[in-house]
Amino acid sequence: MAWIHHYILLLACYLLQNADSATFQESCVKLAATLCIPNTHVQLTQYVKAGTNLSIPDYPQECVLGIGAAPYQVAPADLCRVALRIDTSAQSEMTLEAWLPVNWTGRFLSGGNGGFTGCIQYPDLAYGAMLGFATVSGNNGHNGTTAEPFYKAPEVLEDYVYRAIYTGATVGKQVVKSFYGKQPTKAYFMGCSGGGRQAFKFAQDFPDVFDGLVAGSPAIDFVNLINWASWLSTLAGFDRNSPDFIDEKLWGVIHQETLRQCDGLDGAMDGIIEDPALCYPVFETLICKPSQDTSTCLNGKQAARVREIYEPLYGNNGTLLYPRQLPGADATAFANYLNGTAMFLSQWFQYVVYDPSFDPRNVNRADFAFANEQDPFGVSTWKPDLSAFKRRGGKILALHGLEDGIISSEISKLYYHRVADTMQASPSALDEWYRFFRISGLGHCAGGKGASSIGMYYFGPLTSLSPQDNVLTGVVDWVENGRAPEFVRGTRFKDGSPALGIEYKRKHCKYPARNVYVGPQNYTDENAWMCV
Ligand code: CA
Repeated sequence: MAWIHHYILLLACYLLQNADSATFQESCVKLAATLCIPNTHVQLTQYVKAGTNLSIPDYPQECVLGIGAAPYQVAPADLCRVALRIDTSAQSEMTLEAWLPVNWTGRFLSGGNGGFTGCIQYPDLAYGAMLGFATVSGNNGHNGTTAEPFYKAPEVLEDYVYRAIYTGATVGKQVVKSFYGKQPTKAYFMGCSGGGRQAFKFAQDFPDVFDGLVAGSPAIDFVNLINWASWLSTLAGFDRNSPDFIDEKLWGVIHQETLRQCDGLDGAMDGIIEDPALCYPVFETLICKPSQDTSTCLNGKQAARVREIYEPLYGNNGTLLYPRQLPGADATAFANYLNGTAMFLSQWFQYVVYDPSFDPRNVNRADFAFANEQDPFGVSTWKPDLSAFKRRGGKILALHGLEDGIISSEISKLYYHRVADTMQASPSALDEWYRFFRISGLGHCAGGKGASSIGMYYFGPLTSLSPQDNVLTGVVDWVENGRAPEFVRGTRFKDGSPALGIEYKRKHCKYPARNVYVGPQNYTDENAWMCV
């Protein structure tokens, strides 16, 4: 008789939902009793007034410690906060929050998750709600920042690969319908790193879910990213006391030499390499002269090691596994890849490919091939045919920082080429629905030395809501008004600090164009640059 109970429940929900025209606040409180979505359990509905500094006492400590996420968030608007627990299978579940602003525009937004994280990203919720999106962010099917929850837990892994975002979007849209009484008019997704991979996952496999995608620094070709990351750590070596180990200070010397050789390729010596793909530095210029202080120069082995670190990764049979890192993108590379320990992404070998007894410092090409054979649930996210997404009118605003020290921006370029080749589309044909911007001076989703603030908010300060300066309002303008972004204008703050004010702005070019300084004004004038 379970079905009878089911229908009684549905009827009760229907009657409650349509009972009266309650105020926004009343509707929010009432939502806890009226929300009827399969496999979904309401933890909390809470009316929050604009300006409230919301404390999140149950926020996972791993998220606070692991990625510095704050267990509190200021609400940017009057909103209804909904916290849900959703069963994604008999062995897995996820948490999701939906922030439903009073000034709803009719739009829906899902944020993404980076790295191995399962952490609700409250800044994404606040950003979306501020702009009038009904916004969801989930924990990606697990809490914390490591790959450990995937160990012998295929359902948790499946959530991580795609199902948590899919479920969050599906349930989130139903929450919107229940609360506001109508479906969202358009649905968007914005994510970076792991979130950039999630964006492309939906373009590849679930084209109907989102109308517009902001895909930042995507961890696509995911297994080979793991392979490459693990490999770079082995090249750097694990003996920090070895005379051949390259420490952080020496990486600073290497960075300066890279700039000396390549900064001017774009016409301006401004500390930013606009197109590092043109840069092939010769590191042997740094080989120590007799009696030189060895903390300022390289021995022969070190020079060879740096050269190897900047080469692509090839598999056993000579096929390309992962493109090279671009010169100049080394500022955060030391901290992540080259510091004498195994890179954190290599946990994949311990918790997915093999088991925790595996020492990722010993990875080799046979392991890379084995990891690629597994590719669980299609985590690679490397399918090049996006016809279905194009057909349904979807738009992709893709971007990648050229100082990204964690995911080589060359992977975004390679993918763009693969899509173009597979779909037999020239760049001008792709322009109709898929645009890729290379952001000079942007690190991994945030930071970097250049005009790197572009409106991803969670990943950096907000500078402007103008579609030309902001990738989120930019993709909305494209989807809804047909105004496609010709460039992404980034903002550089003085010393990288918003409190000190704006130092300059620069337009970042749409691939395959690159930025060239033409003058005559100073390089800080955006009109002194041209996309060619
Ligand atoms: Ca330059």
